[in-house]
Parts: sequence; structure tokens; C-alpha cells
Amino acid sequence: MVEGKGIKEIGWNLDNSYARLPEKFFTIVDPNPVPSPKMVIINDSLAASLGLSVDMLRSSDGIAMLSGNQMPEGALPLAQAYAGHQFGYFTMLGDGRAMLLGEQITPENQRFDIQLKGSGRTPYSRGGDGKAALGPMLREYIISEAMDALGIPTTRSLAVVTTGETIIRETELPGAIMTRVAASHLRVGTFQYASRWCTVEELKALADYTLDRHFPEAKSSENPYVSLLKKVVKGQAKLIAKWQLVGFIHGVMNTDNMAISGETIDYGPCAFMDTYDPATVFSSIDAQGRYAYGNQPAMAGWNLARFAETLLPLLHHNQEEALKIAQDAVSEFAELYHSHWITGMRAKLGIFNEELQDKALIEDLLNIMKKYGADYTNTFRGLTLGNFQDVTLFGTSEFSKWHELWKARLTRQEHSEESFYELMRNSNPAVIPRNHRVEEALEAAVIKGDYTVMERLLKVISKPYDHSTKQIEYCTLPEISKRPYRTFCGT
Ligand code: AMP
Ligand code: MG
Repeated sequence: MVEGKGIKEIGWNLDNSYARLPEKFFTIVDPNPVPSPKMVIINDSLAASLGLSVDMLRSSDGIAMLSGNQMPEGALPLAQAYAGHQFGYFTMLGDGRAMLLGEQITPENQRFDIQLKGSGRTPYSRGGDGKAALGPMLREYIISEAMDALGIPTTRSLAVVTTGETIIRETELPGAIMTRVAASHLRVGTFQYASRWCTVEELKALADYTLDRHFPEAKSSENPYVSLLKKVVKGQAKLIAKWQLVGFIHGVMNTDNMAISGETIDYGPCAFMDTYDPATVFSSIDAQGRYAYGNQPAMAGWNLARFAETLLPLLHHNQEEALKIAQDAVSEFAELYHSHWITGMRAKLGIFNEELQDKALIEDLLNIMKKYGADYTNTFRGLTLGNFQDVTLFGTSEFSKWHELWKARLTRQEHSEESFYELMRNSNPAVIPRNHRVEEALEAAVIKGDYTVMERLLKVISKPYDHSTKQIEYCTLPEISKRPYRTFCGT
């Protein structure tokens, strides 16, 4: 392992707590040198919050580290073992093209995984080459940054470097490595792996590690593992409600892509819904619509049931009791989710207080949006700005009727008109990374080497709730010819 000059000045402060888990949970891997790494994008503000010097990361030493050619001081590169239900089928997986360098302890004393994605083969690669193509890595960078700006828990992207290699997919593509920053990479699939291939002691070590890392307050509860389950259920209920409220479709909600931390993880064929329709699927590999927009809450519930099953030996010494505890905890998901969703929907409509008929008011709007094929984001943006020109839905008699009911509803609360429009402005993004804009940015970057289109897009989506005039061109819909949109798995 080569350690270059100037490493200390970068600001690395790495710990390797994951490597202190029982060794079945990971494999130490060798870095896989790449021929000529070049930085194409770096996240200045994220670097600063991690305590890393952007200038040093941009230096040849920094780029060497972000490409796996040099290891930062304190790094212990490893590939994590995990399993997962992929489209309902259980498989052994593991990091087949990623390596965890360690956990950066920030100046604020927070701990974040630093992972290189696309960094070469590992013992878990199966038939894969361990590499990643530039387009999908930039796509993850854009969408995860957009999610963060929208206030949705997510892993983030520190940088993307090209490797100088050509990788073979359907065509030849430039190779790239993304540095992913995450609260952790513990997944439902990590617990499935432990449950299937490890001893109960090892499973307990994983659960204790997770409690220490994410839910230390739960360790003093009567049964910390029951608390762990409940906390994960709560986190997912909150997360999935946030996805639904902005129209985010993950695309591959396999159990290996559900993080225990409650962050959105693994951006493959994800996309934001344009025309409102619960059946919307963008991913080319989801022919059955398992992970369609409207199915996401149910699929999260399904994944949480798989998580709960893995914890059974820790929930109670009597397995019948354990099963009951697990079922009760998982069954709370639906109600928790609904409560976050309806609170969020009320906010999108400027409603602070609760009335029993709110659900019907919301559903009526969604139904006419579906009937008229209204754009999800622009409908709520129009309502927020009181701009009823752009969306055809607004010209219909059904909408006029609904509009009267809504206006009457808004008056049945103590807040001023100013405060409910402010609530709406803060709850309805003006801009999302629209599919045609993302494609345009990727095409310019990957084919022409022009990163300015992507940089402009990143700037606009970094302030989704600004509702400024500068954003207007990013609110327009694609030409009909660019729809329906299809996304492909990021491999
Ligand atoms: P994903 O669809 O990104 O969640 O990946 C599912 C599994 O396939 C994970 O175990 C990945 O590490 C693995 N994988 C994806 N792409 C590759 C690749 N090019 N080489 C090796 N493993 C891969
Ligand atoms: Mg995955």
C-alpha cells in the first residue's frame, strides 16, 4: 500500500470500526490501481463538512486516493458481505465493486463511511468486472445531491474521478469511481447475511454494532433489539413518506438497497415522477412494476418484515413470542408511514391543522391529477405560486370545484395567508432533477467532456425551494418525444 506526500494535510481522520466486527462480515481487499485518474467533479461543501481540504483533494495525491491508487492514512480497505432479496429472490451479494476505506470522524465528531464505488473486483464480484461507468456514477452524484437539498436523508457523493480505463457494457464506456459518503453501509441485507450464514453471537455483534453506531440511546431500553427494530421501522416510514411527497422512485428497492440508517442508498435506475400516476415505473428491469411509485410503501413494509425475521433470535428467547413482537413492530409501519405522508401532504397544501376530511381532499386532487395526466411537481408548484396558467388540469371544471373546497379549507385554520403560502413554498420544490435535464447533463459530460451543463443543473437543484425566476427554465417539461422515460441499471 503506497502512502503519498501531503496525505496528512488532506484532513483524513479515519477509524475502522467495521473491521472490528467478526471477520465473516467483510474481506480486506487490495486496492486496484487505475491507469490515469482525473477528477471530474468534487463536492466542495461536503468535503469541508467532513474536515477535508478541497485543494488537497484536487492535488495529484488527493486524486490518487479518490481513485484507489493511494490509500489515505488510516484506511483499511474492505468489501462488506451482505445478502439480499432481489425482486423477491434471496441471493448472496456483497460489495462486488466497492471498497470501504474507513470511517471519517468529522470535526463535529460525526462518523461517516468513505466508500469507493467502481474500484475493482472483490471476492463478492461474482461474474462482474468490479467497475463502474462514468454516466451512472455522475447520475448518482446528481440525484443524491438533489435528494439532500430536498431535505431527504441520503448517502452523498464526495467526488467522481475517471480512471482512464474503458469498460465494456453494451458499448465501450469510460470507467469512473465515485466516493460515497454514508452514515453507514449497514443494510437490511447485512442482517439477512448474518441470519443466514453467521452464528447468533455474530448476529448479536452486528446488532450491537448497529445500536452503537445509529441508536445508542436504545441500548438502555428493556430489550435493545426490539428498540432497534422499531427505530428502523420508524426511520423507513419517515423516509418513504418523503420519497412519495416529492415523487421520487427508487427503482430497485431490494433488501440490499435499504439502509438501516434510514438514508436513501444505491441510486441505480431511480428517477423523479413527472406525470402523476401511481403505476409509474422507469426502470427497464422492473417489468412487473414491483417497485412502481405507488408500491414503494408496501415494498418498504415487505423489506422490514425480512429485517424483523433476521432479529427473531434476539427479540425473545421464546420464538413464538419473538414472532409476535416482530409482527407488531412491522405492522406499525403502515400507520407511521401514513401519518408522515398526510402531514407532508397537508403541508404541500398549506394546511397546518387537522380535519378528518383532509384525506379525501388530498385524494380528490390526486385523482384528478391522474385523470388529466398532470405533472406532479408543477401542479403543487402552481398551487404554491397561485399560477394557474401552466398546467392544463387547472382549466378543468373538476379542478375549479376542488379549488373552491381547498380555498375554504385554508380559511379554517388560525394561520395567516402569508404563513400557509410560506409552508407551501417550503414543502413544494420548484425544481427536481427532471429526467431530460439529467440526461442532457450526462450526455454533455460523458460524450463531449463538457461538465458545465451538469454544474448548472447541480446549482439549480441545490435550492429546490427557492422558487426564483432563474429556475423557471428547469420547470418546463420535456418534449413529448422524450417520454416515456426509461432508466437502466447503473452497472
Ligand atoms: P446493485 O444493483 O448496484 O444494488 O448491485 C447488486 C449487487 O451486484 C451488489 O452486490 C453489487 O456489488 C454487485 N455489482 C453490481 N455491479 C457490479 C460489477 N460491475 N461488478 C461486480 N459486482 C457488481
Ligand atoms: Mg445495491
